[in-house]
Amino acid sequence: MQHFDDFDVVIVGAGFAGLYMLHRLRTLGLSVRVCEAGSGVGGTWFWNRYPGARCDVESMEYSYQFSEELQQQWEWTERYAAQPEILRYANHVAEKFELCRDIQFDTRVTAASFDEAAGRWRIKTGNGGEFTARYCVMATGCLSTANIPNLAGLDTFAGRWYHTGHWPHERVDFTGLRVGVIGTGSSAIQSIPIIAQQAEHLYVFQRTPNYAVPARNAPLDPREQQAIKADYAGLRRRAKTMRNGIQYPVNEALALEVTEQERRREYEARWERGGLSFLGSFADLLVDRQANDTAAEFVRAKIGEVVRDPGVAVALSPRNTFGCKRLCIDTGYYETFNRPNVTLIDVNRAPIDGVAREGLVAGGKTYAVDAIVFATGFDAMTGALRKIDIRGRAGTRLEEKWAEGPRTYLGVATAGFPNLFTITGPGSPSVLTNMLPSIEQHVEWIADCILHARERGRGCIEPTLAAEHEWVAHVNEVAGGTLFPSCNSWYVGANIPGKPRVFMPYIGGFPRYVEACNQIAADGYAGFALA
Ligand code: NAP
Repeated sequence: MQHFDDFDVVIVGAGFAGLYMLHRLRTLGLSVRVCEAGSGVGGTWFWNRYPGARCDVESMEYSYQFSEELQQQWEWTERYAAQPEILRYANHVAEKFELCRDIQFDTRVTAASFDEAAGRWRIKTGNGGEFTARYCVMATGCLSTANIPNLAGLDTFAGRWYHTGHWPHERVDFTGLRVGVIGTGSSAIQSIPIIAQQAEHLYVFQRTPNYAVPARNAPLDPREQQAIKADYAGLRRRAKTMRNGIQYPVNEALALEVTEQERRREYEARWERGGLSFLGSFADLLVDRQANDTAAEFVRAKIGEVVRDPGVAVALSPRNTFGCKRLCIDTGYYETFNRPNVTLIDVNRAPIDGVAREGLVAGGKTYAVDAIVFATGFDAMTGALRKIDIRGRAGTRLEEKWAEGPRTYLGVATAGFPNLFTITGPGSPSVLTNMLPSIEQHVEWIADCILHARERGRGCIEPTLAAEHEWVAHVNEVAGGTLFPSCNSWYVGANIPGKPRVFMPYIGGFPRYVEACNQIAADGYAGFALA
């Protein structure tokens, strides 16, 4: 008989991954408990409430497809959904499938260790709770651990400071305030235009300029939505044939094999269309340096056309590889630097020295501000797992095993840690794709894998070291054939001091990855050992 705090599966996190994992496992008749640090569901969309927070994947695609009824019922209002709407959607899903009864909120998992004798995971929480479970699924998110730079004097700051990924639930109004934003990644690029409209003055502290393409967000025409829903399965099917799991036209031509005029026409059309489809302009953009330069040059020219002060335009113009950091999608970002109340500070010329009572100090000068916004990103892909004391066989700590970088089989499991699964973990396409279909694919695969072990009466399933080595080598080899590792991005952990430099996601593309996962399952979970 099961003890009340013993489950078949404990899931960590109630974002989109945890919610669907719970639903799927419950459907199979398993007992499940979800531990969630926040006081509500939604993960990323629960925490990232900063002004302008919006998804850069179109709403008709950034949604679950496991339930036809759900995808037919839900009505999106904009081409790109804003954070409050996505959070409403997450809550709607939780309600529709009665998920909250198995979720324990305000419960942060602090430790998980595998008890070899019992063949079970012991999971400890920050509020003194303890569970045991045959399986543990980490649905902890790829971008959930805030990176807050260790700035001297922050504790002496007289104003308020925020991190975009941990935004307060109450409305933050910057009207009449002097604000400093640190960072110019996606979160900054979305929030800066809105903060600038409110603030008396906004200082933007930039370390590396980023490429941003217009979103061209607009209300979603109900007729267009209806047309998509009439063949939703078709859209989903087509999207799954795309490298990043998002449906947009991909030009198979090579940038260097067309005339300059044709190239320009293609870039202009994509610029007008808006969004991530710009990445589909030419097939060689991310593999050929010269091809890449043509896209980079096009965006730099656009920045020059928009930003009136030539010095500011140059400072805002990236020089690194186009697209090897996550492409940003903006609404009025570059235009914001034409406002008289916005000042760009290049921290390469004037490094941030620290924080004083009255503001930010950079290059020896104090910028008096009433509020600081850290738009400084996340300890991506491994940060949330590193925060939990995870111990596998013989008490081995995951952090130790991953000291030189994450090592997984398919990004779903790691040798020496039986019955532990990671949804969209390092070594899977995850952040390089539309997260929702990637999450669904992992959830379904993991559920099938658990079922496979149970049906055979086996208590433990884990990857072999040989299979893991082979997968890690493949992940590295594929990344090495692209321009991706050339930037100091969070994909390689470069934003976190001391983090090993390893390209973490799998760049082989969603279709190839899914095929590999399916083949492994069809071969009786090849590369996994059952005990
Ligand atoms: P990010 O892309 O990592 O950007 C962080 C920014 O902070 C960078 O400009 C970084 O500069 C700067 N920074 C970090 N530490 C700093 C320091 N000590 N001093 C000065 N500058 C510092 O983080 P993010 O903007 O939160 O975005 C993370 C990811 O979340 C995105 O790439 C995207 O995948 C996702 N996201 C998506 C959306 C969307 O759907 N639209 C919105 C927001 C976020 P360096 O570049 O020099 O490191």
